[in-house]
Amino acid sequence: MKKIFFVDFDGTITKVDVVAAMVKKFCRPGWQELNEQWERGEISTEEAANKTFQLFDATMEDIFRLMDTIELDEYFHRFIDACSSKNYPVFILSDGYEIIIRYILQKHGLNGIQVFANKLVNRKDGFSISCTYMNNECQKCGTCKTKLLHQLKPINTQAVVVGDGHSDTCVCHQADVVFAKKSLLEYCRQNNIKAVPYRNFKDILDWLKRN
Ligand SMILES: [Mg+2]
Ligand SMILES: [Zn+2]
Repeated sequence: MKKIFFVDFDGTITKVDVVAAMVKKFCRPGWQELNEQWERGEISTEEAANKTFQLFDATMEDIFRLMDTIELDEYFHRFIDACSSKNYPVFILSDGYEIIIRYILQKHGLNGIQVFANKLVNRKDGFSISCTYMNNECQKCGTCKTKLLHQLKPINTQAVVVGDGHSDTCVCHQADVVFAKKSLLEYCRQNNIKAVPYRNFKDILDWLKRN
């Protein structure tokens, strides 16, 4: 059956979570508690991000310089090539920031992948988040991957979700196949969601050869 991939960005395509790296580097103390509340599902992405930005001190240039140091999964390019040769669509769905994702992708020669993520708003008084892909039925995600999956998945295709963390917990209930690592894998195990553990995109490439 034809497959369609919905791939997380932070910690999945990149080796580290770039939003977490940015917050760690540029925030005054206090962000940890906000992040924990977000991971426990007590506050939405929008609320967590806007409160975190009140503790944030950096320019867009500072952010881009940090993003220059971010490494990608070594097999991601090959994964993209394999999907395009099979005509399998790949969408990046992220609860991070579109401008940062596009910057990193472009730097690594990856253009033309469709990205759905939050907008980073940069005003004189600081940064804030704008969530254009929110879902009223979810109220937690800034970019609700569940809503996007339903919008983007044609009938008679197998929806494959690849992720690593809290921002994938909403959508993993809806996928036909879930590739999970780190806290997403724990979440799937605790919630009886069938998930395929993976280390990097090499494992997904191997699976594609067999499926
Ligand atoms: Mg992630
Ligand atoms: Zn959601």
